[in-house]
Amino acid sequence: MTTSSESAGVIVVGGGAVGLASAWEVARRGRPVLLLERFALGHERGGSAGLERQWRVQYSEERWSRLALATLPLWRSLESVSGRRLVHATGSLWFGRTGVATSEGELRAAASVMERLGVPHDWLTASEIEARFGFAGLPRDYEGFHQADGGVIDVRGTLAALAGLGAAAGVRVREHEHVRAIAPDGTGVSVRTDRGVHRAESVIVNAGAFGGALLQGLGCPVDLHVFRMSSGYFACRGPAVDLPTWYAFVEPDASGANRSFYGFGRNPWTGGDLVRAAPDTEVPVAAADAADPQQPDAGDLARTADWVRAHLPGLVPEVRGAGTCLASLPADPARQFLLGTLSGRIPDGERVVVQAGGWAFKFVPAFGRICADLALDGSSSRHEGTVVLR
Ligand SMILES: Cc1cc2nc3c(=O)[nH]c(=O)nc-3n(C[C@H](O)[C@H](O)[C@H](O)COP(=O)(O)OP(=O)(O)OC[C@H]3O[C@@H](n4cnc5c(N)ncnc54)[C@H](O)[C@@H]3O)c2cc1C
Repeated sequence: MTTSSESAGVIVVGGGAVGLASAWEVARRGRPVLLLERFALGHERGGSAGLERQWRVQYSEERWSRLALATLPLWRSLESVSGRRLVHATGSLWFGRTGVATSEGELRAAASVMERLGVPHDWLTASEIEARFGFAGLPRDYEGFHQADGGVIDVRGTLAALAGLGAAAGVRVREHEHVRAIAPDGTGVSVRTDRGVHRAESVIVNAGAFGGALLQGLGCPVDLHVFRMSSGYFACRGPAVDLPTWYAFVEPDASGANRSFYGFGRNPWTGGDLVRAAPDTEVPVAAADAADPQQPDAGDLARTADWVRAHLPGLVPEVRGAGTCLASLPADPARQFLLGTLSGRIPDGERVVVQAGGWAFKFVPAFGRICADLALDGSSSRHEGTVVLR
């Protein structure tokens, strides 16, 4: 094995969507960046796997809705400089039983945040949801809202855009280089990989669900709940069938497990007749690496097909394709994300920026900027209230 030793202003650990955004942000501010990715860019094992993510501005907590509203201009700017359309406003439909709270939020709470912020949306009964969007057989007490600016984000387009912009700005990417240890000190940070030891002034850890092991090694464990999610792809019955991005808040089962579902309409950038529907079910994994190789959960796919059969007559209720990937949330359900420096937690911790957990794709351009601020300036005045690492 060849050994190498490079130096940079900032080392970014992880080449998922947030890591690529962080690296580009640092590079465009004129600082040398080295990005280390343990697999190949675009691999399907991490949080940025698959084709699409939900774009929505509704949140049960006002600060996240505000952040989503502030992030949309950043997406538009990324689209403009990369020449790619990344966020498609296919609409966001949330419905189900009010009072059911999941890691997404809760219907009434999200609607009242939108009212406070002046975000337009239509409140709908079960019959209206069925008539407008093609759902069927919904319990009569279901209700919800449609928010027309919501929609879907092109995952692979985003990764390609950020990688291309990063390369043009001078980001050095090293694929298949696994970071084993991070050691900050009074003058910088040493980053040990399976190929050598690199040196930088600061490090940004954008390692997603895999980040726990690295931070444990730093003597600073982060409380991440790591799990696997499965998705199915279903065929539309005819060219007229389409759906907005949707989330159905279904009552938990007797054990309290989340039984909600979500899905997408036709993919605006690839077209085709297959649409994705999935259970919002978390299959825990002991450690991120233990989930490799990954198989979709057969029980989850069967439950999704049953739900499609009962409530989406425009789709053929047979799983035509399936996928699975790792996700992570802060173990504390009161937190949406972990983002901040290790200042005060370990010696020289201000040199280590950490972002992990949460439904973060919609915030990729904002989180990249905040990570770059923290690495270069030690603080971020942007989007106050977002930096919460505890
Ligand atoms: C099924 C699913 C549905 C989701 N739906 C939504 C949604 O609708 N809306 C939304 O906003 N978000 C959603 N998310 C969340 C969102 O996709 C993730 O928050 C986001 O993609 C995470 O990006 P990341 O760059 O932080 O992490 P990742 O994409 O996981 O990237 C981390 C990278 O770090 C690398 N790495 C880890 N450890 C090391 C190491 N030691 N050395 C070198 N490299 C390392 C990994 O290989 C990986 O490439 C969803 C996630 C999943 C899984």
